[in-house]
Amino acid sequence: MTKELKNFIAGEWRASGHTFEKRSPFDGTLVAMVHEANEDMVNDAIIAGHDISIGSQSKLWGALSLKERLAIIHNFADKLLARVDDLVEADVADTGRSYWQARTFDGARAVRLFKAYADTALTMEDRSSQFGGELGFKGMWHTSRRPKGVIACICPWNVPLLMAAMKVAPALVMGNAAILKPSEETPSSASVLAEVVKESNIPDGAFALLHGFGHGSAGGFLTAHPKVDAITFTGESSTGSAIMKSAANGLREVSLELGGKNAAIVFEDATMDHVAEGMRRSSFFNCGQICFCTERAYVHRSRFEEYVDRMSDVANSIVIGDKGYDGFNIGPLISREHRQKVKGLLDTVCEDGGEFVAGGSIPEFGDERDNGAFIQPSIALGLSEDARFVKNEVFGPVIHVAPFDDEEEVIALVNDTEYGLATSIWTENNSRAHRVAPRIRVGHAWINSWQIRDLLSPLTGAGASGIGEQGGRLSLEFSSLPQTVTTRIFGEGQ
Ligand code: NAD
Repeated sequence: MTKELKNFIAGEWRASGHTFEKRSPFDGTLVAMVHEANEDMVNDAIIAGHDISIGSQSKLWGALSLKERLAIIHNFADKLLARVDDLVEADVADTGRSYWQARTFDGARAVRLFKAYADTALTMEDRSSQFGGELGFKGMWHTSRRPKGVIACICPWNVPLLMAAMKVAPALVMGNAAILKPSEETPSSASVLAEVVKESNIPDGAFALLHGFGHGSAGGFLTAHPKVDAITFTGESSTGSAIMKSAANGLREVSLELGGKNAAIVFEDATMDHVAEGMRRSSFFNCGQICFCTERAYVHRSRFEEYVDRMSDVANSIVIGDKGYDGFNIGPLISREHRQKVKGLLDTVCEDGGEFVAGGSIPEFGDERDNGAFIQPSIALGLSEDARFVKNEVFGPVIHVAPFDDEEEVIALVNDTEYGLATSIWTENNSRAHRVAPRIRVGHAWINSWQIRDLLSPLTGAGASGIGEQGGRLSLEFSSLPQTVTTRIFGEGQ
């Protein structure tokens, strides 16, 4: 029987009059029929969220002591961890990726974020001070962090549960109502999350799940609603811009993690074994669908041919489309529509005067995977810096490789983009690495590595890659309002 995924609003499952298909990018089979939330349902979720977080209910989620709220979050996280196999299964069904990847990168790692945020909240002490003087008054103030109210959590499809946890966990921990709008491409793991919320002591309304699309659908209704107090969004830069415009009505706060066109620098003294292992991940992991993925490699001219040979071997030996493979492998792109975009950009390589040394095409399997959305890991050379493939975010398993001669030149090449998300620098010269990293306009620079990340460390992007800071304390700060209460002290002396 076909699975149906409903919306979760004020503690109830709600069907809508309109469903859409979620199909597997692995083989095109139907995963689920998804109920698209209409405007009334979005409104109901927001009103319930407002009432329970900062509204007029007698037992507000936002007014519980931190200790009480964190006990509920820990208990919820334990229940969610017990469902980790269902979360992994949901992720594999929606994305077509392997169990190895779903288990190692998302799954329990995402669930543990709820506990990590609860623990970090305990370090967010109130501040206080006595003061006096200038106007003749004495007093004392203390500042504590209050919930903002309703936080819209709008997620992309590339790492669905982890992205949801990074937004929902800090929002709930600080006493807000979290309204999750997963991508239309990945509705399944969010539905498992909502099932566990229903079984937990998180009060009705403090979490809602709304399925649907962007403009003119759940995402658009959510971001336009005046009772949404803040919006945390991860996705494409153009969507981020549309959301920011919507949030300007009513001056709602936004945190936007957006696209990238990330570059790696391979200096002449780099250890090629480290480069090959690191860049296999940085360009091809998750079929290149990680915002930090490297799509441009600048390699010192003295190592250029060696790099191209080595990475071509890497690209050509990657296991593709084996869900049970227990090691580095890649699945399909998220959808046929996305593959069309990626293939369209691959096709510009030869049109613009470049060539492929690996990949460039759609693989043929001769079985049901030919109904999926697979693409070959691809390495291109020979394009000018203004070529479409070099300028635009592809969000697929691709790199363009170009040679460079000196440090100043490569810094300029790497920075020649509207984006500013991540870079990786490969060199055995520590001074050079630390001299170059601060000159690259990005939120995250890795040295001799890629995507080794403490999920509580700050995450931000320059330029078209984002606005606002996320991760750990920064996400807790975004999810709360520092409120200062001042008391006058009468009389003389201290
Ligand atoms: P997307 O912008 O198409 O969609 C993201 C989410 O926004 C989806 O849930 C979608 O339904 C919703 N949405 C779309 N239009 C909307 C609108 N007008 N109003 C409200 N909601 C709307 O992005 P995607 O294709 O799902 O994800 C891929 C993109 O995400 C890539 O550009 C990638 O670089 C970026 N990304 C960035 C980071 C980061 O940390 N900077 C992390 C992961 C992905």
